[in-house]
Amino acid sequence: GRHVTEAVKEVCMNLNSMWTNLGLKLKKIVQANESLAKEERQYLNYVFTASYYWQLILQGRENEAESSKESKYPVLRAALTKDQLRHCFGYIRRLTRKHKPYPHSSAARCMLYDEIMWKVIQKDGADHLDIMTAVSGKRKQLKLTGPFCYANKKKRGDVQLILDRDKKRLEVHRAIKAAVHDLHKSKKKKVGMDKGLATLLSCSSGHEYGFNFSQLVNAEAERINRRNTNRNEYIQAAKELRHELSALQAKLAIKHSAKTERRLRNRIGSLERRISRLEERHLGSKLYHRQHARKQCNMERIMNMSIRKMLLTEKPDVLVKEDLSFTKEKLPKAANRYEAKVRRKLSSWTKGTLDDRIEYLCDCLGIRTVDVNPAYTSQFCPNCGARFSERKGTHHELTVCPNCGEMNANTAAAVNILRRADDKNITLYTPYKKVEKILEDRYANKQSVMA
Ligand SMILES: [Zn+2]
Repeated sequence: GRHVTEAVKEVCMNLNSMWTNLGLKLKKIVQANESLAKEERQYLNYVFTASYYWQLILQGRENEAESSKESKYPVLRAALTKDQLRHCFGYIRRLTRKHKPYPHSSAARCMLYDEIMWKVIQKDGADHLDIMTAVSGKRKQLKLTGPFCYANKKKRGDVQLILDRDKKRLEVHRAIKAAVHDLHKSKKKKVGMDKGLATLLSCSSGHEYGFNFSQLVNAEAERINRRNTNRNEYIQAAKELRHELSALQAKLAIKHSAKTERRLRNRIGSLERRISRLEERHLGSKLYHRQHARKQCNMERIMNMSIRKMLLTEKPDVLVKEDLSFTKEKLPKAANRYEAKVRRKLSSWTKGTLDDRIEYLCDCLGIRTVDVNPAYTSQFCPNCGARFSERKGTHHELTVCPNCGEMNANTAAAVNILRRADDKNITLYTPYKKVEKILEDRYANKQSVMA
């Protein structure tokens, strides 16, 4: 499935760049054409960079075009007379038809890999590229001729593998997206975000992404626990056998008659075979590591998807978040100490990975991130400033304000986080206790003003 997705993505990328290139080419032709009026030239130049209008004109549906406020199109179009417009439409169609490229595919020379499909690993003192193959569960490792030179190896992205038949080598291409800061846009959209385990991301707009993520974490913790319970039986058996073996070996060290020695040796041999069989069939960790890697991969995929969806829906210019959190959530009761330990480990892995992915994807899309002081963001009401009286729900996701009533604790925290970005009194370095004092004083002042 991933390979098909990436192949489709690549085709779309190629088609897009073909249209962009064609647009540039046609703009040059327009520039060289002396017989065009100034307005016509401006109009044509614009259309060749705006694929939306260009496509509609080619399809003869230009009258259906929906104009947005930012678009310059309506102004440029209004500058033309009726005849000029008709002439422009015809000219665009003729030029496009004449110069359009013909997409062709030369036998699979290039493949796109998304961030989950590849990683760089160290083996025998050299960097190896580890990639997913078309066979499920099978990975391939290719030794890199040079060192992998990206400082932060966690910040992965898409790579392209390109087979150069002439040079007889496989190249790894990685596109680095640079942050683009739009200087013309005066109003920056700020979005506050609260991270969590039960629900991965909650935004100040009231939307939430990655529901019930903790279910995946819990299922995995339970699975590992179950597997270890089953294993205990075999661990115990192996321990007893080893005990017996060492006793026999100690006995063998003393001098015996030839017959006794042979008998002892036989029994030692049989014990060793039984132990090795247990280790091979019941105590190995190969399958365990493979299954666990698969589950983690799936969790990482869901994290990526949720972050992408959030960034594309909310479209923030600045993302305000806490540099740490996750402390305020109640985890469901674990069956035993071991399961609790596994769950803690998985939670901290989730936290680290989620933070990494947010930073990386924001970098990619040119979104600035701001860290704010995390103290008490989930304890005070964003509407009236009162302290919440209680938390409810299986994951503490509901909260009650004495004045405003019940509300979603996560999105309320997100609103508080957003406000904190412009808060002059609470900086990233304000101590925990002082933050509480400031918030309480603010509410008290508000009450006295109202009284
Ligand atoms: Zn309130």
